[in-house]
Amino acid sequence: MRLILLAAPGAGKGTQAEKLSEHFGIPTISTGAILRKNIQEGTELGKLAKKYIDDGNLIPDDVMIKVMDARLAEDDCKNGFILDGFPRTLTQAQELDKSHIKIDCVLNLNVADETIINRLSGRLECSKCAATFHKIYRKPKVEGICDFCGGKLVTRADDTPETVKSRLSTYHSQTEPLLKFYREKGLLKTVDGQDGIESTTKEVLKALK
Ligand code: AMP
Repeated sequence: MRLILLAAPGAGKGTQAEKLSEHFGIPTISTGAILRKNIQEGTELGKLAKKYIDDGNLIPDDVMIKVMDARLAEDDCKNGFILDGFPRTLTQAQELDKSHIKIDCVLNLNVADETIINRLSGRLECSKCAATFHKIYRKPKVEGICDFCGGKLVTRADDTPETVKSRLSTYHSQTEPLLKFYREKGLLKTVDGQDGIESTTKEVLKALK
C-alpha cells in the first residue's frame, strides 16, 4: 500500500496516518515532522525550513523533493508507506509521478475551514515523538504528557491564528489543485473528515477496501 494523504493542515492527516500505519504495518512519512526534527537539531535544512514554516509558507520544491527522494529510498519504505504532507504542490506531484514509485491511492479528507481553525487552536504535539493530541477532542491520559513516549506536549509554533490563516490560504492556492491532478489519474478517494477521529478512520478504511 502506497498512500498519499491529501488535506488541509489540521484536517486530521497526522491522526489518521497514525491509525493507518498501525492497521497496515507501514510507516508514515510526515514531511512536517521531518522538518521540525531538523529545526530542533539545528541542521542546515532546519535553519532554512524555519523561516518558511514560521510564516505559514511552503519550503521550496527543489529542497522538499531532494529530502523525499532520500527518505523514500530508505529500507522501511520497501513494503509501502503513507505520505503525510507530500506532495503539496503540482511540481512535487509531477516529480513523484516521474519517479518509479507507483502510488495506489490518494485519500482526501474533506474538512471545512471553520472546523480546521477550531481544531488547530487546541492542538498539542509531543516534542519528542511528534504524536498529536487535542485539548478537547483527543486528550492525553496525563495532562501535558505524551501517552506514547512520556514526552512533553507543546503547541506548535505555526498553530497561531495568523499562521493558520496563512497556511490555509497556501493550501487552497497551492495544494488544492492536486485534487484535480489525482482525480484525473483515477487515484483520488474523498472521505468526510468533519466527524470524530474513530468514525473518520472507519470511513477511511472503507474507502481503502
Ligand atoms: P505539516 O506538519 O504537514 O502541517 O507541515 C508544517 C509545515 O512544513 C508546512 O506549513 C510547510 O511550511 C512545511 N512543509 C511540510 N511539507 C511540505 C512540503 N511537501 N512542501 C513544502 N513545505 C512543506
